Amino acid sequence: MAEQVLLYDTTLRDGMQGEGMSLSVDEKVRVAHALDGLGVHLIEAGFPSSNPKEEALFATLAGESFAQAEVVAFGMTRRRDVEAHADPALRVLADCFAGVCTLVGKTWSLHLEKVTRVDPEENLRMIESSVAFLVGEGKRVIYDAEHFFDAYAEDAGYALRCLRTALEAGAENVTLCDTNGATLPGAVGAATKRVVEELPSDAQVGIHTHDDAGCGVATTLVAVANGARLVQGTMNGYGERCGNANLTTAMADLQLKLGFECVSPEQLARLTETAHLVDELCNVTPNPNQPYVGANAFAHKGGMHVAGVNRDSRTFEHIDPAAVGAGRRMLVSELSGKGTVQDRAQKTGLELDDAGASRVVERVKDLEHRGYHLEAADGTFDLLIRRETGDYEPLFRLESWRVIVEARETGRVETEATIKIWVDGERYVRTAEGNGPVNALDSALRAAIGETYPHLHDIELVNFKVRIPDERKGTGAVTRVLLDATDGHDTWGAIGVSENVIEASWDALVDSLEAGMLPGRAEHVRGTGIPANAPGP
Ligand SMILES: [Zn+2]
Repeated sequence: MAEQVLLYDTTLRDGMQGEGMSLSVDEKVRVAHALDGLGVHLIEAGFPSSNPKEEALFATLAGESFAQAEVVAFGMTRRRDVEAHADPALRVLADCFAGVCTLVGKTWSLHLEKVTRVDPEENLRMIESSVAFLVGEGKRVIYDAEHFFDAYAEDAGYALRCLRTALEAGAENVTLCDTNGATLPGAVGAATKRVVEELPSDAQVGIHTHDDAGCGVATTLVAVANGARLVQGTMNGYGERCGNANLTTAMADLQLKLGFECVSPEQLARLTETAHLVDELCNVTPNPNQPYVGANAFAHKGGMHVAGVNRDSRTFEHIDPAAVGAGRRMLVSELSGKGTVQDRAQKTGLELDDAGASRVVERVKDLEHRGYHLEAADGTFDLLIRRETGDYEPLFRLESWRVIVEARETGRVETEATIKIWVDGERYVRTAEGNGPVNALDSALRAAIGETYPHLHDIELVNFKVRIPDERKGTGAVTRVLLDATDGHDTWGAIGVSENVIEASWDALVDSLEAGMLPGRAEHVRGTGIPANAPGP
């Protein structure tokens, strides 16, 4: 049987250090579920209360259930002048619901001298008492040895003592961190080999590297080749400076090239879909040249290549693209596409036969060609399926909408939207102001149909993302608008694509409201017997 390597994702913590990265609490929860679906074993969510947002994230995660992933809380060893049990940050970790805690601590004498001014022996006591405290509180502890490889190069004996101290205090794993990302594979391999030899045979060693020398994945693989059995990284390699080791690439390499068992083949086949979903949620344009999951990873242009691939795919393809779910973006492959569509239909309580599923797949292909990405737009996807099964009911019939944006000499910008629509044979004309076109349209639309559909009051738009998929075309290109909505229970995405940003926004807005009114979603509010717009207690 293949040996197992544990996957540890730090997208939600280290990945968020990257330039321009930001996710709401709901989005982080969606990322966590996507990682769980991919088979990731450990999901590091951050420090449970460095701010109200993190606090809300942990409160939400505590109520979520995952197929196999465990949520990990992250923190530091105690401060030098307090006992572990009296350290407020360690207390937060101890009280957090997460069963696994990762503690980062110093290993490098340069840092002890220049940054923290902590005596090396005192640093060992800090590691010992912090780990022991959390283990005593019933936590499984991973010790992240910060700057391990720099520390090892300077004073291997002390670096190893830090690891031994953590293990003896009860840590179940010690992870070697290339925090500066500058160590090359040869040095990482040699150090890891020595660590594995020196530590007790049952000690589990992990690896956490960055990509500053362009070797993030390479150093990860070489550490595993030398005995590391836990791999830390981020989806698509997000992270500060040049990013973390790209877990998306590393897991495919480990599984398909090195024969390790990380996840099931079915889970690995979700790799492309998951990588793109996380990109969508982070509002990052997927890198077309990314290994395994990029749009170009298995694209063949040269005539000889195409002919070769048709004769025998091994001539120009290093793996079967289906193994990582590539070559089909989300569900464009005939084989898996229909299955995905039928799966989704069933989840929302619909029956869809083979022919119907094929038509949905064709429709998705067509939409993707026009710039749609349905990975993060599950609301739009649900509506698409219902159009095929005949279960789609529009909330209204549109006569027209109009938006006026007026800029004044004073610098004030005012927006006003007017919509004319029909509901149940009745015509509604409503005008509303807003802080922008989408907000004004949303207000006018709700003013028109809010009474007919009281559940709309529970639906809130929480996120608005605009992207120009093909940036080279500038303002002439299509604009993609992604809107996330929530009813407090559920969060879903809707998408609109048009050359006109307001039209794209309108389409996404209508989809997000219609998707929120679908039976599966509206029920838990309606099912209470309390009118959805009843005043709260
Ligand atoms: Zn890091």
